Amino acid sequence: MARPKAFATRALFPAARAILDAHFDTNYWTQPGGLPRSELLKRVAEAEVLICVITERVDEELLAAAPHLRIVATVSVGYDHIDVAACTRRKIVVTNTPGVLDDTTADLAWALLMAVARRVVEGDAWVRSGAWPGWDLDQLVGGDVHGKTLGIIGFGRIGQRMARRALGFEMRVLYASRHRASQEIEKELCAKFAAMDGVLADSDFVSLHVPLFPETRHLISEASFAKMKRSAYLINTTRGPVVDETALVAALKSGQIAGAALDVYEHEPKVHPGLPPLKNVVLAPHIGSASVETRTKMAVMAAENAVALLEGRRPPNALNA
Ligand code: NAP
Repeated sequence: MARPKAFATRALFPAARAILDAHFDTNYWTQPGGLPRSELLKRVAEAEVLICVITERVDEELLAAAPHLRIVATVSVGYDHIDVAACTRRKIVVTNTPGVLDDTTADLAWALLMAVARRVVEGDAWVRSGAWPGWDLDQLVGGDVHGKTLGIIGFGRIGQRMARRALGFEMRVLYASRHRASQEIEKELCAKFAAMDGVLADSDFVSLHVPLFPETRHLISEASFAKMKRSAYLINTTRGPVVDETALVAALKSGQIAGAALDVYEHEPKVHPGLPPLKNVVLAPHIGSASVETRTKMAVMAAENAVALLEGRRPPNALNA
């Protein structure tokens, strides 16, 4: 009997391929670099399963080109690239990969926080250039991390992992989120719930962990920077459009804030031309969840969601079933 057809927009990892290949007639896009949109629209024509990543827009146009589609399994926790409502109207299940990337993403956010505060990337460039003259008292003096206040905006899975890291640095943690966490979690993480304006005003580091929704687009704007300390740093590892990048560049240039460390950009892969020339920024290429272990777990999770649907079970990470 013919097996259901699946299309994966990346080569994935052997562990995920083994699962998919055991159940589906799977076609993989294995060429380096992203999949051209025209090719994606062609390749979904026969597919019942689409395994995709965040750079692929799943919208009405794609769904119209995929009449047999039953599930869109994204290898990511964020799903702002998918029109979930349009999928629901067509009875297509959408799944994501929550939970398995929390520590890896928080690790990266922490690395960025440390790097910008202690000017690690600037220092690296200096040493590599051969121009470093040797130790001096006032060289590359940055801001301390230990003992400072960390403000977390979006206190979900990754935001809470960020708070856990702050414990080791004896930091004070404030958080703003849609809902207040339980008393147990607040106690365990020594985290204090506060209004967003209070978190912005009182924090030395503001780390963003809200998903990109229409209501979180430009959540951090010119008005937010005006509330922050001039010595504060912004860390963004969630989604670029959560920050008004033009306002960020202005705040960095005017000294309204001390620095920023970013993994994500408003118009990826384009980066605001005002950012690269600045010394007080650290720019990472959207690698929050990029460890071999975690990316493998994410791909396996996506494959398992597809198999669950095939077997008539509710996919464990269904967003709209
Ligand atoms: P999560 O567990 O859903 O946490 C998000 C938190 O933000 C929740 O506490 C949520 O509140 C809160 N929130 C939602 N809307 C809000 C608003 N308008 N104002 C204030 N708080 C709000 O998600 P997660 O797993 O931690 O992931 C967060 C995001 O990180 C993902 O959506 C993704 O975009 C991003 N991410 C990026 C990378 C990377 O490579 N850089 C890797 C992984 C994830 P509720 O509890 O009320 O929902």
